[in-house]
Amino acid sequence: MRRPRQSSRAGLSMARRSIAYGWSDRILVIGGGPAGMAATEELRRQGFAGDITLLCDEPDAPYDRPACSKSLLTGHARPQDVRMPIDGSLEVNWMHGRRAVEIDMRRRSVLTQTDEEYPFDGLVLATGSYASLPKGWPAGPGMHVLHSVDEAWQLRRDLRNAERIAIVGGGITGCETACAVRELAREAVMIDPKPYVMGRAVGEPVGYLIAEEHARFGVEMRLGRRVKEVERRRGRWRLLLDDGSSVHADIVVATLGEKPDTDFLEGAGIDISRGILCDESLRVVGTEGETVEGVVAAGAAVRWPNLLYSNEPMMVGQWIAAVEMGHAAARTLLAGDREMPPVGIVPRYWTLQNGLRVMVAGDFKPTDHIVMTEMRPGRKDTARAGVMASYYRDDELVGLIAVNAARAFTEVTRAMLIDTPVRVAPKPKSQPESTRTASRRRLAAVS
Ligand SMILES: Cc1cc2nc3c(=O)[nH]c(=O)nc-3n(C[C@H](O)[C@H](O)[C@H](O)COP(=O)(O)OP(=O)(O)OC[C@H]3O[C@@H](n4cnc5c(N)ncnc54)[C@H](O)[C@@H]3O)c2cc1C
Repeated sequence: MRRPRQSSRAGLSMARRSIAYGWSDRILVIGGGPAGMAATEELRRQGFAGDITLLCDEPDAPYDRPACSKSLLTGHARPQDVRMPIDGSLEVNWMHGRRAVEIDMRRRSVLTQTDEEYPFDGLVLATGSYASLPKGWPAGPGMHVLHSVDEAWQLRRDLRNAERIAIVGGGITGCETACAVRELAREAVMIDPKPYVMGRAVGEPVGYLIAEEHARFGVEMRLGRRVKEVERRRGRWRLLLDDGSSVHADIVVATLGEKPDTDFLEGAGIDISRGILCDESLRVVGTEGETVEGVVAAGAAVRWPNLLYSNEPMMVGQWIAAVEMGHAAARTLLAGDREMPPVGIVPRYWTLQNGLRVMVAGDFKPTDHIVMTEMRPGRKDTARAGVMASYYRDDELVGLIAVNAARAFTEVTRAMLIDTPVRVAPKPKSQPESTRTASRRRLAAVS
């Protein structure tokens, strides 16, 4: 399916001799989220004058996905309010409702579920991730996952008639969902195997503080517990936990992490073990370990060595990172086989929960040295009064989490982003432990 050339852009491509693709080439982007969108913008910004086609299976894309666990649930926004505009001046062929189901690397073409074939010279994979129910869980009325605008809207509708909602998974999406449920004056129960929440996102000490605030806000915390069985009885869900107790609920929201959307790449010779493996510049890596010519990837589906932190490939599932990776992947694609600088991304995002503004930047490991700084020492409501957790690795600041400490966060993060070596602060030895222990104790008292 070859498309007519846009002769108006031919002059532009002649002017940019440094790019490896010309006006007669076709670049195909799969995925209409922030990574795919950013890639199309950057392709044009860099002077690519050929054909860009974007395949997206969602009819409503692009939209503000983070709103799915925030304003869409509380009713402050409707699906049409979170849609994002498509910039017509980029002349991108948006093919909605097209899911890539197969990729033929030899013929360089992609097949969609609509039985159409899309040939390409260059390919950007930006398929993000998806949410699914844990293995063996029954589907049924009131059983939800939360990733897309449709899923959020369906949950919002069900919330109207529900009294008690069980949220399984205490990550960011789970915590934001619990806030929305409480704002709607419904009962919320949160279940997570860890004794604190948002462990992957904010680490243990801050995770305890946030869990404590959720408990104070009326969320029933069943932490340190796993769901063993799920069944539907007399129009309600019953979750049996591993301590023998059970939770009854009208609605269950499973927010237990997401999987990279890569099934269609099965058999394409691409390494998709735990996400699409890329090299430092976001060139896709094949199953034999070589880079695949003319194929790059960006966004939440990607695992790549983010050399700012480690040689070990990592995944970053955040909006800003997806945009920055989309831009970088487009530049790498256009460079052909020219060497490109490594793509270093500082992961960062923020979330607002029960009056706590949690801001996160950088990378964290439990083995890092953690310094907790209370903005108003001595206050019992540590999180509400403001607290910063600084993570140090080899005496260098690698991660920062601020709760109600926006100003300090902004100052330090600015330094991290412009890559200024951050001076190592003195490390009070006992403070992290005492903050954590106090928080654990308070959490036990309120839950
Ligand atoms: C509920 C929720 C709340 C969030 N809140 C925040 C937040 O507050 N801050 C933050 O930074 N991040 C947040 N995130 C994460 C952020 O939205 C993602 O990291 C980001 O959207 C990833 O962008 P992406 O372009 O890689 O993938 P996606 O946004 O997932 O977009 C990928 C697109 O590709 C489509 N697609 C997949 N496979 C195919 C295929 N085979 N063919 C065609 N199309 C395909 C998908 O349907 C989707 O439309 C949130 C995520 C969720 C689910």
